[in-house]
Amino acid sequence: MTPDGVQSGSVVIRNGKTLAVTPDWEELIDTQIHDVGDHMVLPGLIDVHTHLNEPGRTEWEGFATGTKAAAAGGYTTVVDMPLNCIPSTTTVSALNDKREAVADKATVDYGFWGGVVPGNTGQLSALAQAGVLGFKCFLIRPGTDEFAMVSEEDLLEAMPVIAATGLPLLVHAELPGPVEEATKGLEGNDWRAYKTYLQSRPERAEVEAIRMMIELVRSTGCRVHIVHLSAASALSDLEAARRDGLPITVETCPHYLCFEADEIPDGATQFKCAPPIRSALNQSILWEALRSGQIDLIATDHSPCPPELKCLEAGDFRKAWGGISSLSVSLPAIWTAARERGFRMTDVIRWMAECPAKLAGIGRKKGCIAPGYDADLVVFDPDGELTVGANDLHFRHLCSPYLGERMTGKVQSTLLRGEVIYQQGKFGTALTGTELTV
Ligand SMILES: [Zn+2]
Repeated sequence: MTPDGVQSGSVVIRNGKTLAVTPDWEELIDTQIHDVGDHMVLPGLIDVHTHLNEPGRTEWEGFATGTKAAAAGGYTTVVDMPLNCIPSTTTVSALNDKREAVADKATVDYGFWGGVVPGNTGQLSALAQAGVLGFKCFLIRPGTDEFAMVSEEDLLEAMPVIAATGLPLLVHAELPGPVEEATKGLEGNDWRAYKTYLQSRPERAEVEAIRMMIELVRSTGCRVHIVHLSAASALSDLEAARRDGLPITVETCPHYLCFEADEIPDGATQFKCAPPIRSALNQSILWEALRSGQIDLIATDHSPCPPELKCLEAGDFRKAWGGISSLSVSLPAIWTAARERGFRMTDVIRWMAECPAKLAGIGRKKGCIAPGYDADLVVFDPDGELTVGANDLHFRHLCSPYLGERMTGKVQSTLLRGEVIYQQGKFGTALTGTELTV
């Protein structure tokens, strides 16, 4: 029996590429056969929102550990964010530093987003020429000091330059005004309570930021991608803008789709991220937006830090680092939740492989099992039982809200360009990941 949307057959691989996909078992001469039984073969997933923090904060994660976690999670490509590393990827020289620092460390393929900060407009064309896949900016202060937020004026300068490159601008869409205003009223509150943190990052901060970005897209023609959408109330503005033909895409993250604010215990700072995890109702609207296509894709926003920065002992949501680590468990987490809502594996693949490949400009070689594409494949047991333990994480620090979660679905093995890079808890010895440019 085959689940909806999945065909039985075989994938023929030659020289790292998919040569053919055939409905029948084919005995080919001189061919090594991997029989995966009843397991599914999926295209390798692509994470367009990964913080690997190298160079400069490799003790937070790093390419060696982060890309292993990716391979174990069924990802064969990650696109690294331009901040939390030192230097930030805001100049060509910083990009080259990064390339040098991470060379020969990656288990999966990777690309880089360049950063947009006040005053670096003059670097943007050169970064595009040098091979970044697009750009990222913050409308609110990020958690580290080396990467500055941009104002509307900065974007009016930068966005026409980015538009000319044809690359997308990824935006952390929260405005500081509503967050500052909300936080002022919470001074005396209990900051161990998740509710206090949630109140400090109101939906309005996202809605107003997204409205500003829509107008900037209208006036500059720059492609914009809204990262980690949490506030469902921003969807109607986005939908109207897209109906007007504006080039805007949207991502959300596994944690917004798998966890609910009401179930987060007080002091459980492993759940802190920005924007925050919101209500069960908000979550169900995000799922419906994935169904209707109003949200294009799911990215992890894998953003680790050393456990002490999570302030787990004090459980103080004001002081804790905001970031959730999930690369190795996002696929089973999403599959478990999606299947309960009646989605098919083909939906999951659209959100986690096809649409991310398009955003990163690598959709002609990645994100699909078809002749001519890189043979990046995941063998997945859709019914495997998984209770997430420390051995399943593979990233540097064993801190994640997914620890102890029960899921259905297990990555059995992952292939990058035809080579097995992960199998049943073990990694291939060759570090085969290379940089992707457009
Ligand atoms: Zn992020």
